[in-house]
Amino acid sequence: MGLLGVVLPSRCAGCGVPGAALCEKCLTGLVRIAPPVCERCGCPGAWPVRRCVECAGRRLAFARARGAVVYDAHARPLVSAWKERGRRDLAGVFASVVDEVVMRPDADVVTFVPGDRERGRERGHLPARQLGRALGALWGLPATPLLVRAAGSRRQAGLPRAERRKNVRGAFAARSEAPPRVVLVDDVYTTGATASACATALRRAGARRVDVVCLARAVR
Ligand SMILES: [Zn+2]
Ligand SMILES: [Zn+2]
Repeated sequence: MGLLGVVLPSRCAGCGVPGAALCEKCLTGLVRIAPPVCERCGCPGAWPVRRCVECAGRRLAFARARGAVVYDAHARPLVSAWKERGRRDLAGVFASVVDEVVMRPDADVVTFVPGDRERGRERGHLPARQLGRALGALWGLPATPLLVRAAGSRRQAGLPRAERRKNVRGAFAARSEAPPRVVLVDDVYTTGATASACATALRRAGARRVDVVCLARAVR
C-alpha cells in the first residue's frame, strides 16, 4: 500500500475517542425530537397542534418544517465541528440520524440552503449541501441546487431575532425553475426565517409545496 493508501485514524468529533466520526455515546447523546410536535414548524410540545406559540401568526412560506435533534449544549459543538471545523465525515452520520427521526416527505427533489459567500473558509464545504445530497441518496430523490444567495445579503449569525427576519427577506433567489414538491435541507433551524425566505424563492420559481428538513432545531 502506497502513501496515498494510508488512512488516518478517525476520532469522535465529540469526545475525541479514536474510531468513528461520532462514537456511540456521543451519537446517543443527541436528543431526538419525538412527537408530539407542531404540525407546521416541528416545535416539540405537550400536544400535537397545527400552530404553536412559535409559529402562530407568522407568514411562513413552507408547508412544514421538521428537525431531527434538539440544538442543545451537546449538539452545538458537534454541529460546529461539522460546519466550522471542516469535519465533513460527520455528514453521513447526521444524514442517518435525520433519516431515523424525520419521515421522508413526498417530493420530487431535494435542495438545500445555499452557502454564505462572505465566509471564505466555507468555500467548497457546504454542510447543507452535503446533508441534502446524503439525504437525497437515502430517500431516492435527486439533490439539485435550486437556490442562490442574492447579492448583498448579510450573515444571519449574530443578529438579533427581529433583525434576522428582516435580513433574510429577499436574500435568496431561484437559479432555475423548481419542480412542484421540494424538500429544502438546512443544518440548523433557529427562527425559521431562512427556511421561509428560501421557500418563498422556491415558490416563486414554481414549487407548490416546500417541506423543510433540518438536522438540529432550536427549542426554547
Ligand atoms: Zn464521542
Ligand atoms: Zn409551530
